[in-house]
Amino acid sequence: MKIKFCNYCGAKVEYKIPASDDHKRAICTQCKAIHYQNPKIITGVIVEHEGQILLAKRAIQPRYGTWTLPAGFMELGETVQAGARRECFEETEAKLKNVEFFGIYNTISNSQVYTIFRAQLDVKHFTATAESLDVKLYYPKDIPWDNIAFPCVEHALKRFVKEMKTGFTIALEDIHEDFEGSRKTGYFDN
Ligand SMILES: [Zn+2]
Repeated sequence: MKIKFCNYCGAKVEYKIPASDDHKRAICTQCKAIHYQNPKIITGVIVEHEGQILLAKRAIQPRYGTWTLPAGFMELGETVQAGARRECFEETEAKLKNVEFFGIYNTISNSQVYTIFRAQLDVKHFTATAESLDVKLYYPKDIPWDNIAFPCVEHALKRFVKEMKTGFTIALEDIHEDFEGSRKTGYFDN
């Protein structure tokens, strides 16, 4: 979404390249504040319990009704690992143990960076919440691959399933695919 008005004084902005910059920025026509737009960090976790993976069915747009690993936007003053635990609790009520880093996923079409962890259920408790229509443990063969929320979630889950057999690694992946709800298709959560 393009910025139209100044966050500070409410006046219109215009798009210009500021001195000593190389990108067009939204600059307030009144107070001259420069509004930078930068990628957002989303943090999430793949939760495993006795060979099954915890997935949540989204109760919010975009991609309402599709399945995802618990993930969401980082809050100010938070670490990515704390954010992953918080998002997991908000979406599933699950509490985690053995949290390890799993990888970074650059989602180019949405200007988002996902930091993904892996973990195990601390106790076997999870439930649907205000953010999730349903929360379930899936064996890899039963994961609803044709109804996964985002390309980066699919990439991360596929690598996780593969590495359940071969041993876990840390990886960096670039995801270029568009999807319903991506920046190019007219929606993003900035
Ligand atoms: Zn202003």
